[in-house]
Amino acid sequence: FWSTVPQGPPDPILGVTDAFKKDKAPNKVNLGVGAYRDENGKPYVLESVLKAEDILHQKKLDKEYLPITGEAEFVKLASELAYGKNSKPIQEGRLAVAQSVSGTGALRIASGFLSAHYNGPKTVYLPDPTWGNHVPIFENVGIKVQRYRYFDKKTVGLDFIGMKEDIKLIAFALQILLHACAQNPTGIDPTQEQWKELSELLQAKKHLALFDMAYQGFASGDIIRDAYAPRYFVEQGHQIILCQSFAKNLGLYAERAGTFSMVVSSAEEKERVLSQVKRIIRPLYSSPPIHGAQLVATILGSPELYEQWLGEVKKMADRIIDMREKLYNLLVELKTPGEWGHIKSQIGMFSFTGISAEQVQALADHAHVYMTKDGRISMAGLNEHNIQYFAESLSKAVKG
Ligand code: PMP
Repeated sequence: FWSTVPQGPPDPILGVTDAFKKDKAPNKVNLGVGAYRDENGKPYVLESVLKAEDILHQKKLDKEYLPITGEAEFVKLASELAYGKNSKPIQEGRLAVAQSVSGTGALRIASGFLSAHYNGPKTVYLPDPTWGNHVPIFENVGIKVQRYRYFDKKTVGLDFIGMKEDIKLIAFALQILLHACAQNPTGIDPTQEQWKELSELLQAKKHLALFDMAYQGFASGDIIRDAYAPRYFVEQGHQIILCQSFAKNLGLYAERAGTFSMVVSSAEEKERVLSQVKRIIRPLYSSPPIHGAQLVATILGSPELYEQWLGEVKKMADRIIDMREKLYNLLVELKTPGEWGHIKSQIGMFSFTGISAEQVQALADHAHVYMTKDGRISMAGLNEHNIQYFAESLSKAVKG
C-alpha cells in the first residue's frame, strides 16, 4: 500500500532535541526546547499544580466524556483570566468559547472555523518570522498564508514601520495573526503605544485580529500586563479570536489544556457560532481531555492556589529575566563583537540572538550547544551551571 510514501522532513524544532539526545558530550546544552527548566536544568512541575492534583485525587472524580466544548467551569475561569472578569463580551454573554487541545488545538479550531465561515478572502497574515507550526495549521485547511514584516535584522528589534506599511497595503478584511505577548521566536513585542496604533490600523481596514496567547504571565510575570493587547483590542470593539494555552504558564505541556474563543456581536450570534464550532471539533477529536482542564479550574477557582500560582509564574519569568541580564553581561565582558542589548530587551521564553545559521552549526559541532537554525535560544535552558560555558561558546562562535 505505502511503497510510494516519501520520507517527510524532520520537524525543525523537535529535530534539535533529537540531535541533542544523540550527542554524548557531558557538557552539552539544549537551548532548542520550548519548555521551562528549573535552575538545575530539570523540567518543573508547579507546587500549585501538585496541590490541585491532590485535591482532584481526593475527589475521586469520574472520567466520563466532556461535552464537545469542554468543561464548563474551566472554560469560564480560563476566559476570565484571558479577558478579565469585567470584560464586556463576558458580561454581555457574547463570548463564544470552547475548550481546546492546548494552544495548537485552539489554532486548529480557528483555522477550521475561518475556512468554513469567513466571508472575506481566506488569507491569513502571519508575522515574519513566526512559530513554524502556524503555517501548516492554516495551509492544511486551504487558507492562504502571507507574511507581514515584523523583525528588523539590523536592530534585532521590531520593524514597526514595515509592519504598519504591510498591514496598510494589504486588501480589506483579512485575518491578521498577532502574538499576544512574548512573540515566538523573536521575543520582541510591540509597546502598548504601538498596540494602540495597530488596533486603529486593523479597525480602519476591517481586518480580523487573531490573537495567539501561549505565554500569558510567562512574559513579564504579570498576567494582566501580558494580556494587554487582546484586552485593549476588545475594549476598542474588535471582535477578536483568541487562542489560549496553559502549557507554559502552568507548566501543563502534555495535559493539552487551552481554549478557543471568539468575541461576537450578540448572545444569539454566540449560539449560532458555537453550534458551528462544535461541528468542527466533533470530527477532529470529538471532545477534549479532562484532566488538565480540571487542574486549571481547581487552581483558578481557589483564591489560595490562584495566589500561589501567580507567585510561581512570576518566579519562572523572573528566573528567565535574570538569565537575560547575566548572559548580556557575560557577552559584554567577553568583548563579543556586536550589540547585545536585545538579549535583555526581548521578552518571554525565547531570545533571537541574531547569529547566522553557520554560527549555529559551529556551536553544535564544536561546543555541543543546540538551538534552532534561526539562532533562537530558549532562555529557560540556561542556568547558573551552564551560562558561563554558553556565553564563552557563543562569543567564540561570533568571533569566528
Ligand atoms: N503558539 C505559540 C506562539 C507557541 O509558541 C506555542 C508553543 N510552542 C503554541 C502556540 C502552542 O502550544 P501548545 O499547543 O503546547 O499549547
